[in-house]
Amino acid sequence: MEFETVIGLEIHLELQTRSKLFCSCSTAFGREPNTSCCPVCLGLPGSLPVLNRKAVELAIIAALSLQSEIQKESRFDRKNYYYPDLPKAYQISQYDRPLALGGFIEMKNEGVKRKINLERIHIEEDPGKLMHSGESIFDSDYSLVDYNRAGIPLLEIVTKPDLRSGREARLFLEELRCILLYSGSSDCRMEQGSLRCDANISLRPAGSKTLGTRTEVKNMNSFRAVEMALDYEAGRQAAILSAGGSIIQQTCHWDEGDRKAIPLRGKEGSSDYRYFPEPDLLPLILKSDYIETLAASLPELPSQRRIRLMEEYGLDPADAAILTENRSLGDLFEVAAGEYKDYRNLARWVRGDLLYLLKGNDRNPSEVAPSLLIELLTMLDEGEINRPVAKDLLANIVKNGTNPRELVQQKGLGRIADREKLQPVVEKVLAENKDAVDSIKQGRKKAFAFLVGKVMAATAGRADPEKVQKLLRELIN
Ligand code: ADP
Ligand code: MG
Ligand code: ZN
Repeated sequence: MEFETVIGLEIHLELQTRSKLFCSCSTAFGREPNTSCCPVCLGLPGSLPVLNRKAVELAIIAALSLQSEIQKESRFDRKNYYYPDLPKAYQISQYDRPLALGGFIEMKNEGVKRKINLERIHIEEDPGKLMHSGESIFDSDYSLVDYNRAGIPLLEIVTKPDLRSGREARLFLEELRCILLYSGSSDCRMEQGSLRCDANISLRPAGSKTLGTRTEVKNMNSFRAVEMALDYEAGRQAAILSAGGSIIQQTCHWDEGDRKAIPLRGKEGSSDYRYFPEPDLLPLILKSDYIETLAASLPELPSQRRIRLMEEYGLDPADAAILTENRSLGDLFEVAAGEYKDYRNLARWVRGDLLYLLKGNDRNPSEVAPSLLIELLTMLDEGEINRPVAKDLLANIVKNGTNPRELVQQKGLGRIADREKLQPVVEKVLAENKDAVDSIKQGRKKAFAFLVGKVMAATAGRADPEKVQKLLRELIN
């Protein structure tokens, strides 16, 4: 039987505030364990939460950037459960009155336009962090707990079950991260845990409209792992269903080493949590003009920038996509484009050689001075240097911030176009490659390109290719 895969994601993001959601403890990453805690985030008796205004603001900005509808009145609730990372034995979250409802992300999957709808977006506090003594939770003798993370503001984003493959889930997450980075609400670092994703997945007979029984997969620590875990789980479910079995609703733990999703526990239902309104916090009431002010302050979002880059600079969709995906690369392009007007050439260099060099040298686009890039391309356009030399100069700009014009003068890297200088080189190449000269005389064109290459090599790529061709023709005849 043919199955359709159905996936919905629950994404948790740390909001970039300096202090926690309900107390003034610092949210800085990488501090000594248990040094950023107070009676509020440890849930000591008699302590009272105070809502962090900045967290609400960032949450609204994130929700607006995802086209989600901000609710004028939302509420905090207690989600009750016991786990060692949760000192209060309840998490303050939002349940039936979330901050925002609906929203969507539009993206492309293999050229096909896809609209992935969101269910809801709400604010909650992060629990602490457990650190297991062994490789994984299964082979640990004991676990340690760090409460520095307890109380850090999180945004939970829940999608509708609109995703259809592991790959699509990954593309969605990449686009989501891009949008949130542009909006400035979270730094979205999966490896530091500031973006986490649980995936719900089920199969159904192709063409069916009802949802199948789902499993939930947790513990993926990269977008690639999300894709792999979902592909694995889709395969596992397909095998069971094809053999006439049925899926048990449960939570699985993705094991990165074994590339397997291991069943962890039966999936809990919301009634297990005994949600009730948080008695220590007032409902969150937002005024329209406050929401409007934030909406007006939203920066340009990736989908808008992609279109603008095409309209304003005449870039093709692929160039616009790459320059948008990497925000600071796009910024570098736009600053340089302020002075350098061959936009498409600029885009080709920026997304091609420059991006490659940045990655290889672990540099950020913001470390490259646009003026040096402009200088380099101008020298190339005016025929002062050749392409291979330009590539070397670009590497020097990325690695050392060297001014290309100065380097050309210092090292004599300029283009060689003088007849007096080129002729001896060409003569030498001709003398050393008599066979090639013979085959040219027999009409073979390949041998001509071979000789041009030899002259270029002999001048370290600096000879003017047109002059070289002219001289070669002249001297052969
Ligand atoms: P939970 O109680 O586990 O939080 P939700 O109803 O909030 O469950 O849904 C969590 C996520 O699971 C959502 O992204 C939703 O789209 C997705 N989901 C729900 N049912 C299914 C299903 N049958 N198959 C795949 N995904 C599903
Ligand atoms: Mg949920
Ligand atoms: Zn605290």
